[in-house]
Amino acid sequence: MTTLLIATRNAHKVGEIRAILGDRFQFLTLNDFPAAPKVVEDDDTFAGNATKKALELAKWLSNSSLATCHSSLMVLADDSGLEVDALNGAPGVHSARFAALDKTENSHDADNNAKLLRLLKDVPLEKRNGRFRCVIALAEINPQSAIRNPQLFDGACEGRIQYTASGGGGFGYDPLFVPDGFTETFAELGEDVKNQLSHRAQALEKLKLFLTTK
Ligand code: IMP
Repeated sequence: MTTLLIATRNAHKVGEIRAILGDRFQFLTLNDFPAAPKVVEDDDTFAGNATKKALELAKWLSNSSLATCHSSLMVLADDSGLEVDALNGAPGVHSARFAALDKTENSHDADNNAKLLRLLKDVPLEKRNGRFRCVIALAEINPQSAIRNPQLFDGACEGRIQYTASGGGGFGYDPLFVPDGFTETFAELGEDVKNQLSHRAQALEKLKLFLTTK
């Protein structure tokens, strides 16, 4: 069985990834590795940050005992965020730390959402378009501890930003984001619907196809 280290401590992301990939993997997360290095996500693209996270963690893991006792070990790193057209693509790669004054630390979801609503307060509904984007980098550590360049898989989900937050599910900007074709936010639609159409679901479907054809 392949062991997959999901390179995040975000329990919601882990839940979505596990629900979509199913039970063909043994899953680990960064919570299983308190000593794992903290990767600075300072690239200006989702692909760049996902690649950096996957490579740095794969290198670190390849020096650990885990690499020698697993015949098939991979690191899955997801970088994702929200792009809003009326804000020229912001918050983009800064989605997790949008409201923070200190740009190296993540901010609370409620603060990020409040900032987004403040910046969009005078923007009419027809101009509140945006999309979630996700890039997943998959780095494979072979039994000789060699690491190949990560494979990349992407996904995007178009929608619009509501005037107020609604719904108790999901995380991040979910209470503000209404996907195209729906009238409720991701936070109201619930995880089963979100996992059918989200940016992360699309990227993970491509990853699944890659693994089955490998
Ligand atoms: P990352 O952990 O660096 O990829 O940061 C992703 C940030 O983008 C999160 O903290 C959220 O603010 C936002 N984000 C990414 N995916 C989602 C999603 O599925 N729903 C809501 N917000 C998301």
